[in-house]
Amino acid sequence: MTVHQQEGIGMKHSKATFIGLGQMGAALVPPFIDAGLQVTVWNRSAAKADPLVALGAKVAADFIAAVSACDLIIVCLADYATSNALFHRDEITPLLKGKTIVQLTTGDGREAELGALWAAEVGVNYLDGAIMDYPTKVGGPECLLLVSGDRAAWDSCEAQMKLLGGRMTYVGSKPSSANLLDGSLLTMYYGNTFALMQSAAMLEAEQVDIKDFKTALNAFKPVIESTWKRTIEAIDQHDYSGKEASIHVHSLGVQSLLKRARNSGVEHSLLQLFSEYVDQTAARGFEADELPAAFEVFRRKG
Ligand code: NAP
Repeated sequence: MTVHQQEGIGMKHSKATFIGLGQMGAALVPPFIDAGLQVTVWNRSAAKADPLVALGAKVAADFIAAVSACDLIIVCLADYATSNALFHRDEITPLLKGKTIVQLTTGDGREAELGALWAAEVGVNYLDGAIMDYPTKVGGPECLLLVSGDRAAWDSCEAQMKLLGGRMTYVGSKPSSANLLDGSLLTMYYGNTFALMQSAAMLEAEQVDIKDFKTALNAFKPVIESTWKRTIEAIDQHDYSGKEASIHVHSLGVQSLLKRARNSGVEHSLLQLFSEYVDQTAARGFEADELPAAFEVFRRKG
């Protein structure tokens, strides 16, 4: 008996089916096998199941056999259209009644809400989630996953889902919550990573060692973190006032960055955008306020 079985994981959902064995889907399976659960897998291209069968998974003969095998079905496919084409079929839905589906395919909030509506219609317990890390991190203590939807469904499979990452987090009963948070976290991910590449290009153009950037960036992290914290508080409290640095000062700062990038001959459209955001914020009358006032530029119009 494994540790997880001793802790009670085997009592409900001692078996699970995984649909989709791409780079991420395949990574979800080993933690379940390691914990001693009986695992059935299915993938359109059957050969991708082979390494998992070697670990102890059972490969389903077809999609119907896969969804029939277990009451807990974990889905990780390319997109919701692919998933819906497989699940939303008259010959499939009766087989799903009373089962729990955890949809881990990346999608938006509307897709999650539609998934929950479909599940309610066909009598399925539905959770929708987002995997906020890379396949090699799945199952590790740092791996962050967000799941939302039916509370009773979460309670029934919480122990199993936590096998997928030490930071598996239930973010509430609204089915779209996990996907909406995923969208914001990914926006941060891309925004920061592209800004990092812009910075690196500017340094490279001036023959500064990228390793020096790494050191300086580490030292700068507390400033970035306190700026994020203050920005979230200011947005939450609708109060952009402060005595640190006005939009006017930030305008001079981003204009200087833009000039430096242009002079270095590197791509600078990202910095051009920064400059435009600050100018638009000033034009709206926030010149004496702090940087979080630029949130007004991003808000839904009307
Ligand atoms: P992937 O390696 O491209 O795998 C895509 C999966 O979808 C495969 O199982 C593929 O089957 C299946 N598929 C595509 N079209 C299909 C169709 N018409 N019918 C049946 N199956 C079909 O992608 P992945 O990296 O595993 O990503 C899967 C999901 O995880 C995505 O929503 C992705 O955004 C999310 N995710 C990925 C990562 C990551 O780092 N990779 C991180 C977080 C979230 P075949 O093998 O037969 O092509």
